Amino acid sequence: MTEIKSFRNRKSSIYNRNTKDPFKISRSKFFNFLMCKRCFYLDRVIGLKEVSSPPFTLNNTVDELLKKEFDYYRELKRPHPTMIENNLNFIPYNNENLNTWRNSLKGGISFLDEKTNLIIHGGIDDIWFDLNNNKLVVVDYKAQSSSYPVTASSYLSSEWRVSYKVQMDIYVYILRKMKYEVSDITYFYVCNAEKNSDKFDNKIRFKTSLIPYKTNTNWINSKIIDMKNTLDCKDIPEININCEKCMYLKGGSKFF
Ligand code: SF4
Repeated sequence: MTEIKSFRNRKSSIYNRNTKDPFKISRSKFFNFLMCKRCFYLDRVIGLKEVSSPPFTLNNTVDELLKKEFDYYRELKRPHPTMIENNLNFIPYNNENLNTWRNSLKGGISFLDEKTNLIIHGGIDDIWFDLNNNKLVVVDYKAQSSSYPVTASSYLSSEWRVSYKVQMDIYVYILRKMKYEVSDITYFYVCNAEKNSDKFDNKIRFKTSLIPYKTNTNWINSKIIDMKNTLDCKDIPEININCEKCMYLKGGSKFF
């Protein structure tokens, strides 16, 4: 067992208001900011490490295989069968930087917001190309297992999928800042593992659905400024008394 450290020691992960170097914010940290300024501040300014979670290895495997599958059609410059089935005049988009864009650890897609000196970045799953409108179309793969059918009307209505929509809004915003023509319409390529087989038999069958989402990027600019103001703030933002986790920590702190 190794001793767990509470605080980060990598300097690039911690905001320093006294330097002129740009500071990187991933789209997941941006989402954390939207959810709670205090948690975001404790993480990015104070350096308090979030509790880690185990990797989603099955979901990641589906993502990896889908990337290979779409790369096959990308190489051929031909539409993937799902594009044909959905009457979309699309092909997988090819770009020499695609592998970097797909890897958030290598920077992903990114831009420097000059007003705030923040670099906003994120790793995309895929980009398709709309041949009718000559625009990039952002695509995110989602693997799941649900007994409920995946439909366009229900998929994005659940409250906990707000993060999916925010993710797409941010990707479109970044790519536009990178000067690409990007469609408002994005797609979730949802792979739902079916539970109705009689036995496992070393395989899981998936049903795939393409769920469109019309992005809205109007809110992003003001939130980046708000995020910068939070980073520059000398005081830790207030506790949210509606947050179960914070109330647990606050209550428990008397006993530690
Ligand atoms: S209220 Fe507390 S625990 Fe909850 S998200 Fe904010 S800082 Fe984190």
